[in-house]
Amino acid sequence: MGIKTNYDYDAVVVGSGPNGLAAAILLQQHGLSVLLLEGKSRIGGGLSSEALTLPGYLHDVCSAIHPLAVGSPFLQTLPLDQFGLEFIYPEVAAAHPFDDAPAAILKNDLYETASLFGDDKDTYLKLMQPVVKNWPFIAPDILGPLRLPKHPLAMAAFGLKALQPATLLAKHFKTERAKALFAGMAAHAIQPLQNWATSAIALVLMANGHLEGWPLPKGGSNQIAQAMAAYFTSIGGKIETNTYITSLMQLPSAKTVLFDITPQQLLQIAGEKLSGLYKSQLQKYRYGMGVFKIDWALDAPIPFADESTRQAGTVHLGGTLSEIAYNEQQTAKGHHPDKPFILLAQPSVFDPTRAPVGKHTAWAYCHVPNGSTVDMTAAIENQVERFAPGFKDRILAKHTFDTAELQQYNPNFIGGDINGGIIDLRQLFTRPAVRWSPYTTSVKGLYLCSSSTPPGGGVHGMCGYHAAKHALQNHFHIKVSSLHTH
Ligand SMILES: Cc1cc2nc3c(=O)[nH]c(=O)nc-3n(C[C@H](O)[C@H](O)[C@H](O)COP(=O)(O)OP(=O)(O)OC[C@H]3O[C@@H](n4cnc5c(N)ncnc54)[C@H](O)[C@@H]3O)c2cc1C
Repeated sequence: MGIKTNYDYDAVVVGSGPNGLAAAILLQQHGLSVLLLEGKSRIGGGLSSEALTLPGYLHDVCSAIHPLAVGSPFLQTLPLDQFGLEFIYPEVAAAHPFDDAPAAILKNDLYETASLFGDDKDTYLKLMQPVVKNWPFIAPDILGPLRLPKHPLAMAAFGLKALQPATLLAKHFKTERAKALFAGMAAHAIQPLQNWATSAIALVLMANGHLEGWPLPKGGSNQIAQAMAAYFTSIGGKIETNTYITSLMQLPSAKTVLFDITPQQLLQIAGEKLSGLYKSQLQKYRYGMGVFKIDWALDAPIPFADESTRQAGTVHLGGTLSEIAYNEQQTAKGHHPDKPFILLAQPSVFDPTRAPVGKHTAWAYCHVPNGSTVDMTAAIENQVERFAPGFKDRILAKHTFDTAELQQYNPNFIGGDINGGIIDLRQLFTRPAVRWSPYTTSVKGLYLCSSSTPPGGGVHGMCGYHAAKHALQNHFHIKVSSLHTH
């Protein structure tokens, strides 16, 4: 940027979430001098673990479960295990309990999972087998910007399923159990299940479950950020915390700047430098539903009535497909349903570092209208109690975040939106603006690398990877070799 010839750095990355870290690493790996700036006193963004309730209880403030991290074609290339990162794999990846039937469960093994669906065994295999088999070929296209696919037939087969509304694709199943499991997976899209393309996230999460599992990092999700940061500094990168950027003038001189922030923040920081057209596209960018988050310190594990649910790392609470679809749609319309769909994780069942001996932690959230400050504690706890009678008696302490508190904690969570903007059909590949490369802005050398770019939310670092790859190739003329999944 600018007309200088001597620069302090080749690249400055602002924001140390998984995408900022991934971008900084790829740039540094290719011989650039890179400074990573973070506004908070600690690095990691959504990779954050803190003692939110009582001393000795460690809670994941944001992300907890990491199928997308272990399935990430870029993170797979990094030697993070050598920098202290250890994943723990619950035998039951996810469970979906019911009021009056055994839970539907997702296990690592595709065939074992299918056989548990009884009458839907063959339908499940027909749906998931091709996605799992083709994943290594289609992953780089699914987890990146829109372009001509390298494997068009495999991609077209995936697209025909993925682009369907989850409520439509689920009709292939005969049993309520299989339909509900699929609905719970699709609800990670954080939008009404009647929307086009809500099947995509369900297929991606389930395929990653069968290929890699749904693990949690030993010692909390911040361990992923710590390992990425340690690797980054080991190859020469520099990190400065407590540096909150409000203007481009604050930045040291650099040939490129990559922002791990969302469009609303970019408009505030760099608005006057952006072209009118690009600015108006960013102003029209849409954020989705927010989340209400709760963490508990518990006297004992959650007493789920269903045995396999007690063994699951992740639990989806919301009953049948029609119940989940109705409640998610109500939330999207601005309401706060009494029986919201809940995503719950129980890390201490698998990782003893999270709580004192014999004690436990649990993590849960439900979707709420963007910007909501309604307290959903009672609604969430009633849903847990519905499937785990006696749960409320085990609560020792709790901590909650409404959407305003979440945005205060991390300025990227605008109105409580944890995906950096709604990931619907219109914003799936063209987030945040319709451009040849969505990572570029209208200012030469200034890039966006957050989850507001493709492929969107979640801890996978692929937005940062693609933004940095674009900067390396187009700004520095350095070729970056293609990624492969294993
Ligand atoms: C409650 C909750 C549960 C979640 N659960 C999961 C899960 O289980 N699995 C999963 O994969 N994902 C989960 N996510 C989503 C995941 O955390 C995000 O998608 C991911 O962190 C996005 O990464 P990012 O790098 O784009 O941005 P962030 O992780 O949001 O990082 C942005 C960073 O930039 C910094 N920053 C922002 N503005 C500035 C500025 N002006 N100056 C300096 N620094 C700045 C912020 O402080 C922050 O550190 C969850 C999120 C939440 C909130």
